[in-house]
Amino acid sequence: MTAPGAAVLPSPGRHLSDPGTRAVLRVQNALLLSARRFLAEAGFVELLPPISGPVTDPGARGSKQVDIDYYGHRYKLMSSVILYKQAALRTFPKIFCVAPNIRLEPPETADTGRHLAEFHQLDVEVAGARRDEAVQLVEELVVHMVRETVADLTEQFALIDRDVRALTHLTQGAFHRMTHTEAVARLRENGHEQSLDAELDWAAEALLSAKADRPFFVTDYPKGSRGFYDRESRTEPGRLRSFDLIAPEGYGELCSGSERTHSYPEIIARMRETGENPKKYGWYLDLVREGIPRSSGFGIGIERLTRYVAGLDAVWQASAFPKLPGVVSP
Ligand code: AMP
Ligand code: MG
Repeated sequence: MTAPGAAVLPSPGRHLSDPGTRAVLRVQNALLLSARRFLAEAGFVELLPPISGPVTDPGARGSKQVDIDYYGHRYKLMSSVILYKQAALRTFPKIFCVAPNIRLEPPETADTGRHLAEFHQLDVEVAGARRDEAVQLVEELVVHMVRETVADLTEQFALIDRDVRALTHLTQGAFHRMTHTEAVARLRENGHEQSLDAELDWAAEALLSAKADRPFFVTDYPKGSRGFYDRESRTEPGRLRSFDLIAPEGYGELCSGSERTHSYPEIIARMRETGENPKKYGWYLDLVREGIPRSSGFGIGIERLTRYVAGLDAVWQASAFPKLPGVVSP
């Protein structure tokens, strides 16, 4: 499939009746069905996610949150349901949801091929799990989703001209893991200046992604690059028990996750460090005081994963009703 010009969307009618769109949405549907089967068999309960609330994920920097008037109170539309996932572990120890997110990303990101203003996450959280158990779970889940989708949708992949050999390869070996510190060293060897204290920039991600032949994990991001809910390492202060899954072939980040900060004093300390006012988080902190379980979890960007699996030029092609940053569309 070829994308039209930068930041230009086809008319909704043309997009929705395009055989390419149909094939891509079939791929997305197969990925979701397969994820639901895998997670149900592993004992997860699917919950319907909240759409609005007094607070949302403060970790999504660079994008604007959306306020709504909720009976005279200023509420947010969810930019991610992370805090609600932690709360929901009081119902079941293993939960997931397919959650809509809205983030008003800067208009200049409309052309990156990776940004939507509205997207969905497959959001998973496991009580009692350590970071590395979450990493293992993402790997098994993604391999399962891709394996079943590739096996079931030969015609659709042919129609959109996606060579599935790269994906078959993905299902045949472990995903490589490197720490953020190792990633920085590798980048510097390749002449790319990357700070040890910051999130990997896009050029860095693209460089690592281009050298990989299957998705890979980067772990232990530095403090300051993530929200307060990513737990700081006890043994390596300044490093978070976090991870990203990055796709090969230049598609970039697919998923972020971490072990979570769960004790009241740690959460307050991390909120202060990340510039968040604890007063805004009343309901959440009340729950934390009563006790929320230790947990790990992650969110896979569904349109991003679909883009990679289907081999699309741009992420908007993986949405029936795409919303590009700064572009007015239905
Ligand atoms: P984050 O919490 O920012 O790490 O987002 C979780 C996942 O959602 C990322 O790993 C991406 O796969 C996906 N994602 C984040 N922002 C966007 C966006 N603007 N458009 C599409 N997908 C996104
Ligand atoms: Mg991320």
